[in-house]
Amino acid sequence: MKVSVIICAAGRGERAALGKNKVLAPLYGAPVLWHTLKAFAFAHQIIVTANENDLQEISALCAPFHAAVCLGGATRTQSVYNALALVTGDIVLIHDGARPYVTHNIVQGCIDSANRFGSGICAVACTDTIAVCKDGAIQNVPDRNALYHVQTPQGFVTADIKKAYRQAITDGNSYTDDSAVYARYIGSPHLCAGDIQNKKLTYPSDFTQGERALLQGERIGFGVDVHAFGAGEGVTLCGVFIPHTHGLIAHSDGDVAAHAVMDALLSAAGLKDIGHYFPDTDPQWKNACSMDMLKQVVTLIIEAGFAVSNLSLSVQAEKPKLAPYIDAMKENLANALQIYTQNIAVSAGTCEGLGFVGERLGVAAYAAACVQTNKR
Ligand code: MG
Repeated sequence: MKVSVIICAAGRGERAALGKNKVLAPLYGAPVLWHTLKAFAFAHQIIVTANENDLQEISALCAPFHAAVCLGGATRTQSVYNALALVTGDIVLIHDGARPYVTHNIVQGCIDSANRFGSGICAVACTDTIAVCKDGAIQNVPDRNALYHVQTPQGFVTADIKKAYRQAITDGNSYTDDSAVYARYIGSPHLCAGDIQNKKLTYPSDFTQGERALLQGERIGFGVDVHAFGAGEGVTLCGVFIPHTHGLIAHSDGDVAAHAVMDALLSAAGLKDIGHYFPDTDPQWKNACSMDMLKQVVTLIIEAGFAVSNLSLSVQAEKPKLAPYIDAMKENLANALQIYTQNIAVSAGTCEGLGFVGERLGVAAYAAACVQTNKR
């Protein structure tokens, strides 16, 4: 079963008063649309609708996600119709680009509902009383128990929603969302669970107030390790062997850099330190390859519900000179952490002759890592 996703980003978002399309406005270090795309990165196919002015900027954002960009029309209905022509999945989810806080649970519930009932419309029950008003006076107060806030994603069997949109375009009708098109031409859409956090960014304050939802899943950790020089022909840092007049004394391979990284990751995930998982009293870890241990740490992180976002590593050594080996160290880390090298920084420095590093007694490594909950 293949899932396609249409992300609506062809609007102008004038109510946000940002002077630009709100999906391109910054939110916690990246454009709103980037966060939305990230939530759907699992999909078989992603299509983003864009207006002509934003085509270039949106295309650049979409490229890393292998998302196609489709020129929108004068109305939302026309834009979705244009995008539907490209859809190849069995199920299609249609989502507002300005809802970056959508979670994995919401998306999965929507897919399950579309599979089972032919449609899945994310919605939350109204908690406020809603009144129908005219000329500043309440005309009618509908039963609150029957009222829902309709959100996106809205999922459908592709063939059905294509048919409904073809009809809507033929009839010249315009709708504010897809459930209304489905309801008009196919049947009653099935509700599934939305979330009050799955807010559509509309007004300027939505941009500042909502950041907390994205931040919730971000955590930082810090790790330090030191090993003393001893007999040997070189040191191993992040799995890279660097010839030297000495080696590093250790129970394992003495990869001081890998050890600092492991502690930073475990710390970010709120787990215990490496001594707990790989005790140096255990013969199993005698001369062990620390990069293999690092891969095991990544598994622990994933099992604890996190994914690694980025890493910053600093190695302090008077000798040997590390600069020529830094790219290779980054490659090895990227491989072990399953992240891109762009998300890894490795720096090397000396201590200007000061302290144990300066006196060439050993090597120190400091690492900071960010992890993100993978249960959003
Ligand atoms: Mg160590």
